[in-house]
Formats: sequence, structure tokens, C-alpha cells
Amino acid sequence: MNTAVLINFAYIVSSILFILGLKMLGRQSTARRGNLISAIGMLIAVVVTLFDRQVINLTWIWVGLAVGTVLGVVCARVVKMTTMPEMVALLNGFGGLASLLVGWAEYGKIRAFGWERYLAEYAGNPVFTGTVIFLTVLIGGITFTGSIYAFAKLAGLLGGKPVLFRGQHIVNSLLLLLTVGGGAVAIFSSNPTLVLVGFTTYLIISLVLGWTFVMPIGGGDMPVVISFLNSLSGLAACAAGFVISNNVLIVAGCLVGTSGVILSAIMCKAMNRSLGNVLFSGFGSGVVAASSAGDGEIQGELKPISPEDTFSVLEAARQVVFIPGYGMAVSQAQHHVRELSDLLEQNGAEVRFAIHPVAGRMPGHMNVLLAEASVPYEQLVEMDTINPMMANTDVAIVIGANDVVNPAAARDKASPIYGMPIIKAHEARTVICLKRGKGAGFSGIENHLFLLPNSRMLYGDAKATLQAVIAEFKSAASS
Ligand code: NAP
Repeated sequence: MNTAVLINFAYIVSSILFILGLKMLGRQSTARRGNLISAIGMLIAVVVTLFDRQVINLTWIWVGLAVGTVLGVVCARVVKMTTMPEMVALLNGFGGLASLLVGWAEYGKIRAFGWERYLAEYAGNPVFTGTVIFLTVLIGGITFTGSIYAFAKLAGLLGGKPVLFRGQHIVNSLLLLLTVGGGAVAIFSSNPTLVLVGFTTYLIISLVLGWTFVMPIGGGDMPVVISFLNSLSGLAACAAGFVISNNVLIVAGCLVGTSGVILSAIMCKAMNRSLGNVLFSGFGSGVVAASSAGDGEIQGELKPISPEDTFSVLEAARQVVFIPGYGMAVSQAQHHVRELSDLLEQNGAEVRFAIHPVAGRMPGHMNVLLAEASVPYEQLVEMDTINPMMANTDVAIVIGANDVVNPAAARDKASPIYGMPIIKAHEARTVICLKRGKGAGFSGIENHLFLLPNSRMLYGDAKATLQAVIAEFKSAASS
């Protein structure tokens, strides 16, 4: 077998490992193994590529490998699960930058050799090569600066509000047109100076475009944006694969590109919003949220409950469902939730955790927090499975969740969240809502659930109120 066949065979093995790994990431119980399998696929691809290419000097590759390994290990150990979106944003950004550099290096090669010698040596088609270099730089550039902006928003370095100005979409469209114009000049001109001008134009504007693209998107929508940018980083890598004729880069780029789009679509569906609405509507600027106060016929009153009375209700309960939301993450109450769940089980109750796909602020946010508190996987129940059980639930404990249990999503056509599937907490016999006050959720609208006759408000930071309820259980047990 010749070397080229062996190398492509190794690339096919890598690609299969990537696909298997991705599939295993879909289930919590197999996710770790999936990650490892994908990493092995990547190791094979890197090693084979080093043998395949005529590497002139390995020094910089070793330096890059050492720096990357140290950074990777440190980040994996130091970065908290709750700051994963920031980490993913940075990784996407560097992926985009790497692709951009590949495109830039190839352009440098063309400039140094001249088209004729370049085409003779690399057997390319000038329009195809010019186009894939353009796409690599454009998508890589947008991904790089867009991801840095998303990181800064999530890390609180920039305000979370969307930055909007009049004519924003027109400015962005003009920038995009200018980039395409620069690309066309670089691809079709045979004059080296014009090619340089075209290349520089689309290189710089693609970096500006990434920034202006993410600017009008609110901090709460950043998880969707990051998933979308992840997809773009894959497409940039795929284009880079065509630039340097590397099959495994093309396959891996396609896998990242499609899985990022699928994840974005899942998140948008769970919020009942389109990707276009997330990317271009300026949601969270106050304009959308203020257009509706939510359920137009909100009636009833908020009925506070004390930790002592909460204990009495819970002590008699046989079916209990916890519904965690963003507030549980804010108060870091997951360990106390687990402790209360254990006490309820010891008291004879059956306990489940209802997981809404967009509860919190990042995909899998609640799963991650509950896993950190060692809540068994089997107790986590997805929205579609738990909803038919809600009518037979004695007590639903809503912990810092708001939008994901808001009945207005099903009833109020004027509501910004109308159509978003919710966890039907309101169907439980008693609903106990843990929150600090009258604060609205992410969408900024009122919640009818809190006013229903079967709802009670346990006010305070979720961790503190849970501690108080746990103390009641313990004192009852010891007396
Ligand atoms: P939410 O609607 O944002 O509501 C969170 C609630 O937690 C607030 O009403 C707040 O009320 C309460 N809270 C805050 N800090 C608290 C604390 N220390 N203790 C107790 N309560 C506290 O949260 P959600 O129900 O989880 O819904 C998530 C929202 O984010 C959805 O609208 C979703 O579309 C959006 N979103 C999610 C993702 C994702 O990937 N998960 C991505 C983008 C957008 P008080 O201020 O009164 O305490």
C-alpha cells in the first residue's frame, strides 16, 4: 500500500472516531468516553499530518504543541463548569484565527511564488483556490473577533445589553458587500497590487464584521451565538482544509459546522425563536420585552410562605418535582437542593428533577450544576417526559426558574415567549417558588404562575431559604 492510501485510511479512522465521539456526547453517561474517543481521533489526525506534510522545521510545531498542551491542561483543571461558555467562546475564536492564518499563509505563498509557479507546484485552480482562501479568511475573521466579543460579554467585561444604533443592519450589509468586493478583486485580478489591496480589504473588514455582528445581540443570547460561532469556526476549518488539501480537516470542519447549527436550532426551538430573531432582533434591549407585560389578564396575589410552613407541606408530600432555573445557578444552591432531595426521599417521597432545555443561561446549565452536586442521572427528567406527570405531583419546587415555567408561553399570544414549551409547574397540587422578590426572568415579563391559588412564594436567596427548610427537617428528625 502506498503512503497516500495509508494516510487517507488513517484520516478515515480519525473521522469515524470523531463521529462516534460526537454521538456519545449526546448522553451524559457516555459523554466522557465520547470526548476521549474524539481526542484520540484528533491525535491520530495530527500525528499522521506531521508525517504526511514535508515539514521543514519541527521546532515551532513542538513549541506550539507544548504551549497548547499546558494551556489546555490548566484550563481543564481551573475553569469552572459554569464558565464553560466563556471558555468555548475563546476556543471558537482561536479556531477561527487558526483558519484565518492558514488562508493568510497560503496567500503569502502565492504572492511569493507568483500564480504561475504556485499553480504548477500545487496543481490548483486559481478561482477555486482564491475562493477558498477568501472564505477561510472571511469566516475565520468573523469567528475570531465575534467570539472575543461574545467572551467579553459573558465574562462581564462588556455590558450585557445589545448595542444598537440606527442603520446598523445597513452598515453591516455594506461591510459585507465591501468584503465580497475585496474578495472578487483578489480572486479575479492578475495584477499583484490589486490582489494585495483586495486581500487586505477582506482581511480587515472580516475582523470588523465579527465585532459588529455580535454587538447588537444581548448577553442572555450569547449561548446561542457561541454555538453559532462554533459552527462558523467549523466551516472556516473546512475551507482551510480545501486550501491545504487536507481531507481530515474538511471532514472535521463539516462535523463542527453541522453540529453547531443543530445545537443553535435546538436552543432556538426551545425558546420558540428563530435564529434570525436571536441574531438580528436586538432582543433584551427593552424594545421587545416592553411590548408586552405578559399575560394580559394577570389576577391574584403573591402569597408568601415561611420555611416552617414549607416544611409542613413537603413533609406530607409523596411526589415532589424540583424545577431548577437560572436563580439556582446565581445562588449556587445545587448542593442544598440535593440535600433537601435526600431528606425528602428519606421521608418516603419520590423525587424528580424537571430539566427544561433552556433553563439557566447555557445549554445543559442545570445538568452541569446538578451533576456537580451528585444528583443521580436517573432523577433528571426531560420536559416532555415530566409534563404528563405534573398533574399527579404533590409539590413542585421552583428554584429560581421563571420563564421556563411561565404559563403565558402557552396562553398569551402577545407575550414575547408565546409558543415556548414550558414545564407545567402550575398543574402540580402545590407550587412553591423560591426567588428573592418580584424580579422578572430573562424575557422581562411577569409570571402568572406566582399568582395562582396553588402557588406560594418562599422569598429570599435560594440557598438561604433551602438551608432554612433543611434545618426544619433536621430539627423535626432530632426531636
Ligand atoms: P429566568 O427566567 O431568567 O428567571 C430566573 C429567576 O431567578 C428570576 O426571576 C430571579 O427572580 C430568580 N433569581 C435570581 N437570583 C436568585 C437567587 N439568588 N435566589 C433565588 N432566585 C433567584 O430563568 P429560567 O426560568 O431558567 O429561564 C431561562 C431564560 O434564559 C429563558 O428565557 C431562556 O430562553 C433564556 N436563555 C437560555 C439559554 C440557555 O442556553 N439556557 C440561552 C439563552 C437564553 P428574583 O430576581 O426575584 O430573585
